[in-house]
Amino acid sequence: MKRRNIRIHRGATLAALVSSLVGLWASPTWAGAAMTDAEVKATTQAREILSELIEIPSTHINGTTMAAKAIQKRLLAAGFAASDAQLLAPADYPQSGNLVVRLHGRGKAKPILYLCHLDVVEAKAEDWTRAPFKLTEEDGWLYGRGTIDMKGQDAAVLAALLRLKREGVVPDRDIIVAFTADEEAGGDANGVGWLIAHHRDLVDAEMVINPDGGEAGMKNGRRLYVGVETSEKMFLSFQAEVTDKGGHSSRPTPDNPIYRLSAGLDHLAKFQFPVHLTDTTKVYFARRASLETGEAKADMIAVSQTPPSEAALTRLSQSVETNILLRTTCTATQIDGGHAENALPQRARATLQCRVIPGESAEYVHDILAKVLADPTIKLNVLTAGRPSPESPLSSSLLAAVEKVVHAQWPEVVILPQMAAGASDSAYSRTAGLPSYGIDAMFDDLDDGRAHGRDERISMTAFSGDVKFTYELMRVLSSGP
Ligand SMILES: [Zn+2]
Repeated sequence: MKRRNIRIHRGATLAALVSSLVGLWASPTWAGAAMTDAEVKATTQAREILSELIEIPSTHINGTTMAAKAIQKRLLAAGFAASDAQLLAPADYPQSGNLVVRLHGRGKAKPILYLCHLDVVEAKAEDWTRAPFKLTEEDGWLYGRGTIDMKGQDAAVLAALLRLKREGVVPDRDIIVAFTADEEAGGDANGVGWLIAHHRDLVDAEMVINPDGGEAGMKNGRRLYVGVETSEKMFLSFQAEVTDKGGHSSRPTPDNPIYRLSAGLDHLAKFQFPVHLTDTTKVYFARRASLETGEAKADMIAVSQTPPSEAALTRLSQSVETNILLRTTCTATQIDGGHAENALPQRARATLQCRVIPGESAEYVHDILAKVLADPTIKLNVLTAGRPSPESPLSSSLLAAVEKVVHAQWPEVVILPQMAAGASDSAYSRTAGLPSYGIDAMFDDLDDGRAHGRDERISMTAFSGDVKFTYELMRVLSSGP
């Protein structure tokens, strides 16, 4: 999952140009700061790993086992024991391989677990202007399917772990990394769900870090924020259906299912779910305000207070990006009905797709929808059941740790707690009782999100910055509870 959609009111700067000019790869300096030999080595290795992973087309059809094997080979060569670098796949899905690696610590606290999905969305060569399954360097950018979602992060995490191993670091707690299958496609072979169900001992942890969630946003070349994603909305779909005996279209009646369904959908179009701010979204708006100006800034401060300002809520509800953080949403996504040009319809159906704030149940959403549709002849059935996942506690010590590591490299960047509107593998780990946080410092342009799209890319500056960040954060989080 990678979604980049946020509105920030700021002017352009020269930083984009400058950062692309200083993103020279083999140079021992980057972004104006000198790199240590260890950082140069880790970044070079991360790039080799990224190149190798991109060349393995781990789409849903091809699976992830090849990529998991490539990682296992590197780990064994680096001195990890075979029992600490296990390749595991469901018997029915041998192509959906997962690689779980453990760097042993002193056992002073429960382990920390990193989640890194290895699968990528399909990319067709004819749609791209560069080869999708080859790492191409061009003008300070690295192109290839998965560079931002999330083989770039996979490479950064693996390089960090290999660097710790190389340096002989023994952390206070074990560091586990699960490189997993089928995040994008989901389903029975989802690696995180499967590992938790079948190999809980191998992945059990006090805390989960998922670099697929959270986001590091930049705009006009300026780094703005690093997200700490604590929660995500639940995906839930209903089918609204009206049936009737039908008849000849020359003898119309007002009971026509298309009319009844249309009237119900018209009510839904005008309806908004009640505002539901969470611990995370309250802090999000309070901090996000510092990136805004004028009325938007004042409104964000006003909604983060108790009670939130009604006028501010009304204004923020008018923007899609802020509205989806304020409430559950349900929208019609598909419609069909009728069976012949000259017949009264016997059936009309619509799909209602909902994204539900954590803490609200499917039953609660169903009951509200039934009231809104306001017609007992419209039957409302669950089409896709939700997988509820709780909000992970907004840990102040974690926020402080992330802030410290981020500010060491980018002092101007704001740390934003986030609730994602989309879904990620963290839903599996949160549901299993593991507090999970999406944290990613691979800065991506908010106006040019290419995850899942054509010519997916990351800047070399963003990549080398994330390699350093990932190592530093891994060190901090694995030393002490
Ligand atoms: Zn992803």
